[in-house]
Parts: sequence; C-alpha cells; structure tokens
Amino acid sequence: MTDEFDNQDELFDELEKKVKACTLCDLHKTRNRAVPGSGSREAWIMFVGEAPGKNEDSQGLPFVGAAGNFLTELLQSINLDRLDIYITNIVKCRPPNNRDPIPEEMDLCLPWLREQFMLIKPKVICTLGRFAANRLIDPELQISRDHGKFYKKKGQVFCALYHPAAALYNGNLKQVLRDDFLELGRFLEKCRGEMKNT
Ligand code: SF4
Repeated sequence: MTDEFDNQDELFDELEKKVKACTLCDLHKTRNRAVPGSGSREAWIMFVGEAPGKNEDSQGLPFVGAAGNFLTELLQSINLDRLDIYITNIVKCRPPNNRDPIPEEMDLCLPWLREQFMLIKPKVICTLGRFAANRLIDPELQISRDHGKFYKKKGQVFCALYHPAAALYNGNLKQVLRDDFLELGRFLEKCRGEMKNT
C-alpha cells in the first residue's frame, strides 16, 4: 500500500466522519443516521441517487431497501459487484416522509459529493433519477426523454438513468432500466478495452 493511498484513505475516513456529524441543513434534525455512501474508494464508476430512505436512514447505508435490491440485480446483469463501485446520494440525510429534497438542502450538501468525486476520481458517473441528473448533468435534462444517454463533462462521462425506486412504482420502467443498464454495460466494456490499449 502506497503512502498516497494511506493518505487518500485517511482523507476519506475524515470526510465520512464530517458527513456523519454534519448539521449544515435542517435534515440533520430528523435523520437517524447520515449516509455518506458505500463501496470501493478506488471505483472508476460511481452511482449517485437522490436521498436516503427509511431503511438507509436506520442502517446508515445507501440503497439497502427494495430499490437497493433492484439496483444490485441491475448491476449484476452487467457483471458489476456493489463492492467494485461507489454508491451515494445528492443529499446524505433522509428528508422526512421521503419527500423530495429541496434546492437549499441540495446546495448545502453538494460540497460533500464534490469532495467524494475529488478523492475517488471516477471516470464514469451514473445518476439515478431526475434530481441527481439535473444537479450533475444538466438542469434542463428530462429523465423521461434523456435516460440512457451519455454526456461528457470535464473529462468525465455521465450517464442519466431512472431511479430504481421509480421502477417499483411503475413496472414499465423496470424493462427500461434493464435496457439502459445493458447499454451502460456495453459502454463500460468499450472503456475497459480502451484502457487496456493505453
Ligand atoms: S443532508 Fe447533507 S448538508 Fe444536510 S445535514 Fe445531512 S450531510 Fe449535512
């Protein structure tokens, strides 16, 4: 293990500690646990959802409920293990009654995500749902029109995907997500091939 990696790991531990103790927005008053994220700190692909739900809030881990199970199934369909990727959310604390996060909460929480991006340095960032897509890719993006598309921004590739929870409420979206993940898998294969040749 290199000194650089030791240092990165310490920085990451420090960041997680700060997120868990964060009181920047009012969501800290109603959360049980902040949810910084989980997975590989050296992942080259990251998934960013909207906000923790009830299960995530009680366990302190992202995507552990029914939507999380569906996400795991989608990842497995393209040979990705949750331990190979990093998963987090735009806001790290659960909004009461699973309401949508408000712009002020997202503004205050985004610097944590930006720090995670700086430490992990992912090459590909997949947004899950419209909130993450509008914040990270384009405020004008419409998930019903633009899901499955790839965007290049400042040396990183972004892919807009539906949130897996949306498919639990609207069964038709399950197949849409499965198809978009297959496309993502093909794209990642191509990237792996290009990385091997460089
Ligand atoms: S949602 Fe983000 S900004 Fe708000 S208290 Fe939690 S970690 Fe802090």
